[in-house]
Parts: sequence; C-alpha cells; structure tokens
Amino acid sequence: KAEKALNFIEHIVEEDLANNYKRDDLRFRFPPEPNGYLHLGHASSICLNFGLGESYNAPVNLRFDDTNPAKEEKAYVDAIKRDVEWLGYRWDKECYASDYFQQLYDWAIQLIKEGKAYVDSQSSEEMAKQKGTPTEPGVAGPYRDRFVEENLQLFQRMKDGEFDEGKHVLRAKIDMASPNMLMRDPILYRVLHKAHHRTNTDWCIYPMYDWTHGQSDYLEQVSHSLCTLEFLPHRELYDWCLDQLVSSDKLRPKQREFARRNLSHTIVSKRKLLQLVENGVVSSWDDPRMPTISGLRRRGYTPESIRNFADTIGIAKRDNLVDVSLLEFHVREHLNEIAPRVMAVLNPLKLVITNYPKDKEELLKTENNPGDESAGTREVPFSRELYIEQEDFREEANRKFFRLKLGSEVRLKSGYIIKAESCTKDTDGNIIEVQCTYDPKSKSGSGTEESLRKVKGTLHWVSIKHAITAEVRLYDRLFNDENPDGHKDKDFMDFVNPDSLTTITGYLEPNLKSAKVGEKFQFQRLGYFNVDTDSKPENLIFNRTVTLRDTWAK
Ligand code: ATP
Ligand code: MG
Ligand code: MG
Repeated sequence: KAEKALNFIEHIVEEDLANNYKRDDLRFRFPPEPNGYLHLGHASSICLNFGLGESYNAPVNLRFDDTNPAKEEKAYVDAIKRDVEWLGYRWDKECYASDYFQQLYDWAIQLIKEGKAYVDSQSSEEMAKQKGTPTEPGVAGPYRDRFVEENLQLFQRMKDGEFDEGKHVLRAKIDMASPNMLMRDPILYRVLHKAHHRTNTDWCIYPMYDWTHGQSDYLEQVSHSLCTLEFLPHRELYDWCLDQLVSSDKLRPKQREFARRNLSHTIVSKRKLLQLVENGVVSSWDDPRMPTISGLRRRGYTPESIRNFADTIGIAKRDNLVDVSLLEFHVREHLNEIAPRVMAVLNPLKLVITNYPKDKEELLKTENNPGDESAGTREVPFSRELYIEQEDFREEANRKFFRLKLGSEVRLKSGYIIKAESCTKDTDGNIIEVQCTYDPKSKSGSGTEESLRKVKGTLHWVSIKHAITAEVRLYDRLFNDENPDGHKDKDFMDFVNPDSLTTITGYLEPNLKSAKVGEKFQFQRLGYFNVDTDSKPENLIFNRTVTLRDTWAK
C-alpha cells in the first residue's frame, strides 16, 4: 500500500515534534457528550483521534463531556463505549468531565478571588441586550463590578441550591468590547436543579462547555484537542481559560479545528436523530436506516467498511457534503470478500420441471465464495418444483433479456440447463407457474459435454419443499433529498421518505436455518444481507445492507 500523505492535523503534530514536543507528550481524546448515539459524523472524529494514536503510538482517552444532566444518560454512555469498541479502537483512559466538577469549582473560586469572574443576577434577555452585536461593542451590566466577597457568597449560595434556575449565573470578566462575541463575559456556570447520571444531586450548578473542555484537556494532559470548525471562535476563550491556571511545568493543550463531516441524503446531528426516534419515524436509535454506528452495524456494515470510508475521505479544512454512496461502495467491497454466497428468492414464481422425477431429490454442490477458494463448498437441495424470481421470467422478450423466456434456455445456478415450455396464468392474467424441461446430462461440475455447454443467463432458485421462510427487510434512503437539513424554508422532517422500509417474506435455501444474529451473506444477485438483532431461529429476520450494484448511480 502506498505511503499515505499526511493530513493537515498530522502536519501540525509533525511541526510540534520538530519544535518543542517530545513523542511522549502526544495524547489525544475523543470527547462525546452522552446525549445520544454516535453517528457517522462522530466516526470521522473517532478515526481521526484514534488514528493519530495509532500513527504516533500515543494514548487516546475516551472523555465523556457530561456537563448537561438535562440531556444526558448512562444508557448513552454505554452505547458510545460499545460503538467505539466495535469500530475497533481501544482507549487509554475512560474519563468524565463530571470527575472534574470539584476542581473546576475550585478554579472558579480562584477566578472570583482574582477579580476575573462575577455573579450576574440579570435575566438572560437583559444580558443578551448588553452583549452588543459583532459590529457594536457590548456594555457592562450592573453587576459587573460586584465585590469579590459578594461574588463568593452568591456563588456559594448558588452551589448550595438556594436559587432557582436562571436567577444567577457566574460569568468570566473578560472584555465586553471584544470583537469576538464569545469573549464578552461568557457564562461559566449556571444553576440546574437536575440529578446527574454520575454525580446524582451532589451539584446543582454545572459548568459550561468553555469552562470545562480546555481544563479537562489540561487535567488529562491532552496535547492536541481536535474539534470541529464551529469551535474556531471558541479557541480564544479556550486559551484564556487555560491562561488562568496553566503551570509552566505542565503541557499546555492546544485546540485545532477540522471540518464537520456532512453526508448526502442523511442527517448527522444527535438532536435531530433523537427527533426521528421520538416521532416514531424510525423504531430506535439502532434502526437500520439510521446513520448511527449502531444502526449501520444492525444494517450489516462492518467496522472495516466504516474505517475505510473515513480513511478515503480523510479530513478537510472546509465544510463539505460527502456522497453516501461512497460508504456503500466500501461496504460492498468488504462484504464481497467476506460474505458467503447463498440462494434466496424474494419474489417467488413457481417453476415445475416436468421431466424431473416426481419424488426425486438431490443435493447440488456449490461454492461459498467464487473469489475465495478457502471459503469451501456446501450442498443445496434440488427437486422438481422450485421458486425463481418473478423478474426472471417473461413469456416473450428481446435478445438482451438473458433470463428465462418461453422456448429458450438458462442455467439454474450449480444445477441444470432448463428450457421454458409453457406457463399458467390466473384469471387476472398474472403468470403463476412456469413449466419447463431440463437436460439431465447438463449438471454443473459433472464434466459431461452438456455440462460445459454455454447458455446465456444463470438464475438463482430454491427448492420449494426444502426452502425455509424468513422476514426480509429492504431499505431505501431515509430522506428523499440530497441535503435534507440544508433548506431554509423547510424542515428536514418534510423530506422523510415514507417508503424507506419494505418488509417481505423470502424463501431461502435451508442452510440458512442456523444463521446467527450479525451473520452476513450475499443473497446471490440480490445484495448483501445481515441477520437482524431481533432474529430468532423460528423467526428469521434479514436486513438488506446494500444491493450488489449502485442502483443510485445517475
Ligand atoms: P451533534 O450535533 O450530533 O450532537 P456534537 O458535535 O454536539 O454533535 P459531540 O458528542 O459533542 O457531538 O461530539 C464529539 C466529537 O465528535 C466532537 O469532537 C465533535 O466535534 C465530533 N463530531 C461530531 N459531529 C461531527 C461531524 N459531523 N463531523 C466530524 N466530527 C464530528
Ligand atoms: Mg459537543
Ligand atoms: Mg450536540
């Protein structure tokens, strides 16, 4: 494999190593907020951070950014850990911003004592009015010059639970005229009377993102704190917060930004994905139509395909929209290597071989993966009455129709050459049965002259009396628009595709009887399928991961 070019973050790291950083200084983190399941956008950040860890043999922490108990839950923490592990990454330390609540509080006290923070007792509307606009400076509010003693007392009382939410906040005292709005006395703490999934009711004041993230990086001695571009204006505040506490013998973390990953035909925002779940558009966070890691896993995606996808697009400095068909390309490529081939019929048409003995049956040997001899072979039962796909038979068709038509021949996969002789229709004119004859000497692999005869077209089939049934779920895109979230006048919900799920009964070769949850197969000519989480031996369920070809290509 060719040596890959360094991405721009790796260039930054290389430059740091060439200057004042030692290899041992390098440490990264992936910092999800446990307020939802991880999605494909996160996968990009995971692959970036853990990828850097692998390249530089540096530790990577998994840090839960759990400062808003109103939205966060232990169940999300567990799901996030499961997904990162499933993607194939191992973190060094499992950390929680909530573990630093006491330290962050102590540092806030220090700020107050130094005259760099104050308790503001105005409403959020009043504070917003004083903030100014990007082109006009803000003005000081009436509490900006409160005495240190009063600030300390009020902050203590906030912590002790004496005040309702919104009555008081703690603000940094920086610069109400800064060109950067975020530097105009940002809020550091607010009162929230909510139990936290880890600290329970120990706290009723919670630190804001900007007062938490850089300090957490500092406490963990993260060297490069990588985040998405919308945090670029926060960098100045990140640095200001660190300036208040960094000691010279410790490493000072630096924030650097990369572009968010956006994907066509889908949504990557936990808040909006939660809406899909809550409104019943999908059944759950891991519904196979969801762009979540757990949804993709259930759909049949492999960790390798997601990592290869992330690797191929890399990271960018500017926002961009990546076509989701690239992800489909990667999963096809991987499943083509690893998924055993099987035969299943999803839209059955009965085929009777009139010259095949009535009570005869036989086992036909067939390969599990034509591209991989080590995958071996298996046997599939064959008999006089079979199912083929309805789409594979026409009474008449032009020469380009390489399937079955009256008077012409096809080969049944790993079986015989057959010739369609006649068909039967119901009163509405629908074809309900095809009668054909077979050439007994044409059996695949038998070495006879007839077996080597070339016919155009090979069809998959199952023997009716041996077939097992399964529920088969076919998926289409969840949104009918390339960029459902990109319309000013419309909500992403307006673009939900009402036909994104079709459930049918499939007829499968009996070898699939023992298929286990998460096992992947290629149903020949139909696509790749994964055994669903809810599948039971007596009620098999398969999800179509992807079709064999990109049917979306324009
Ligand atoms: P969401 O809006 O979906 O909640 P978020 O950024 O608030 O996303 P976090 O849990 O805070 O979600 O994200 C954890 C990390 O993953 C952050 O460093 C964040 O920048 C990164 N991340 C989230 N979404 C994307 C994306 N679409 N592309 C790249 N990185 C992302
Ligand atoms: Mg966040
Ligand atoms: Mg968010």
